[in-house]
Amino acid sequence: MTAFVHDYQMTINGKGATSAARFPVFNPATRQPIANVPAASETQLDAAVAAARAAFRTWSRAAWSVRRDALNAIAGVIESNSELLMALLTLEQGKPRAGAEWEILGSALWCREIAKQTLAEEVVEDSTDRLVVTQFSAIGVVGAIVPWNFPVLLAIWKIAPALITGNTIIVKPSPYTPLCTLRLAELCRDVLPKGVFNVLTGGDELGRLITAHEDIDKVAFTGHTDTGKHVMRAAAGTLKRITLELGGNDPAIVLPDVEARKVAPALFWAAFQNNAQFCNATKRLYVHERVYDEVLEALVEYTRGVVVGDGALPTTQLGPIQNQQQYEKVIEYIDDCRRQGHRFAIGGEVAPSAAGWFIPVTLVDNPPDNSRIVREEPFGPILPVLRWHDEDEVIARANDTIYGLGASVWGNDLGAVRRIGAQLEAGTVWLNEVHQYSPHQAFGGHKQSGIGCENSLHGLVEYTNARTITFNRRAAFGRDAPGKAE
Ligand code: NAD
Repeated sequence: MTAFVHDYQMTINGKGATSAARFPVFNPATRQPIANVPAASETQLDAAVAAARAAFRTWSRAAWSVRRDALNAIAGVIESNSELLMALLTLEQGKPRAGAEWEILGSALWCREIAKQTLAEEVVEDSTDRLVVTQFSAIGVVGAIVPWNFPVLLAIWKIAPALITGNTIIVKPSPYTPLCTLRLAELCRDVLPKGVFNVLTGGDELGRLITAHEDIDKVAFTGHTDTGKHVMRAAAGTLKRITLELGGNDPAIVLPDVEARKVAPALFWAAFQNNAQFCNATKRLYVHERVYDEVLEALVEYTRGVVVGDGALPTTQLGPIQNQQQYEKVIEYIDDCRRQGHRFAIGGEVAPSAAGWFIPVTLVDNPPDNSRIVREEPFGPILPVLRWHDEDEVIARANDTIYGLGASVWGNDLGAVRRIGAQLEAGTVWLNEVHQYSPHQAFGGHKQSGIGCENSLHGLVEYTNARTITFNRRAAFGRDAPGKAE
C-alpha cells in the first residue's frame, strides 16, 4: 500500500496543480478510501484551456515525426512504470492482474501503433490547369472525458490520436478512477512540451464545464448513452466536434451445431470479462433451442470454477464492482428479475456483508424479450440466456435494441455464421471470437451506441478538419501577364 501513498496532483501546463477542494477515491475490493485527489475549479479549467491553446500554436505546426516521437515517449513512460500502473489500476478499479496487464501494456502498444499511422494529404486533381489537395489539419483543444471501466486504455484511445494529429488535450478521468491518469500525466511532464497534455480531476460538473467551454474545439467522450446525449446538447452551443462512444447491449448468437462444453468458456468470458463492466460485453446470449439446456448447464458448471475476489490476490479471476452506485444498480437488476419471477440458473444472492462491492455471476434462464434485463444495459455480472429456434427471428430479436455497439456469432457452420453476422446492426461483429481490438481497426457504435469512431485512420480523421486547397496553375496576375484571369 505504501507505494500508493502519493501526493496526487493534476497536470496543467506541464506543472503539478492542486486544489483546496478534494474528493476521496476508494478501493472497491475493501470499500476503504485510498487517496484524496484535487477537484478542479472552473478557474483551473480555464488555465488548462489557455495552456492547451498556447501549446497548440507550436504543436500543430511541429513535424509529424516530432509528434510520433512523443507518442513513443509516452509508450516508454508506460512501459517503464508498468508495474506501478498495473498495481494502481487494480487498487482503484478492482480488476485482477491479467486485466490490468492487458490494459496497461495495451495502452503502451496503442501509442506505438498509432505513432505509425499518418494522414497523408489527398491529391484530388493534379493537372496542367490545377492542383487540388485535401489536407487534414488539427482541430485545436480537445476535451477527453473518460469512464471508470478501462480508465487508462480509453484515455489513451483519445490522447494518442489527438496528439499525433497536432491537437492538444485536457483529459478528465472518471471521479471513481482518477489515480492512474494523474500518475501518467505526472510521469509524462518530462517528455512532452508543456500544455500539450493536461489532466484535470473532478466530478460530473467538470465534464459539463468542459463540454460547454467556449475555447474547447472538440469533445471525445466515452460513457453512458444518456450522458452522451447531454454532451451532444452542450456541444451544440459552440458546434464542437464530438466523438461519442456510448453504451451497448451486445447480442451473441449460438448456433445448434456447437459442443456446449467447448464453447462455454468463450461465451463466459465474452460476457464477464472485466466483471461485465464492459461496453462490449455480451449482454444477451441467444442459444439455439437444440443446445440451450446443455449450453446453460455448461455455463453454470464453468461459473462454479471461477474465482471472484480482491483483484490484488493472484488467484482472482473476477474482481468487485467498481463503485457503490454501480453495485446498487446491478442489485436492482437482480431484484427486478426476482420480482418478475425469472429463474436464476446460478447466482442471484448478494452477500451485503462482503468486504467489497462483490456480486456473484448470475445467469437468468430465458427471461421474456421485453424484460428489463434483456432491454437495458446492467453493466455488471448478470446475463440473460435466451432460447431461439428460427434464424430470421433471432436476427430480428438481436437487432431489436436502441444499441448497436458489438455482436457475435458462434457456430461450426461457417456459412451460417457469416450470413447471420452480415445482418447484425453493430459497429463490430465478431465471428467465432470476441473482444478482438486493434489500433488499426475502426471501433464505434451504430444507433444510440455512439457517433463517430476511434482507432484506425477513420479514428484519426475525427481529430482533424478537412482543408481543401485549390491552386489555379494557369492564372497570372502580373503586369505583363496575358490577361487570362480578368
Ligand atoms: P458516465 O456517462 O456516467 O460517465 C462517463 C464520464 O462522463 C465520467 O468522467 C463522468 O464524470 C462524465 N460525466 C458525467 N456527466 C457528464 C455530463 N453531463 N457532461 C459531461 N461529462 C459528464 O459513464 P460510466 O458509468 O463512467 O461508464 C459506463 C458507461 O460507459 C456504460 O454505459 C458503458 O457501456 C459505456 N462505455 C462505452 C464504451 C465505448 O467505447 N462505447 C467504452 C466503455 C464504457
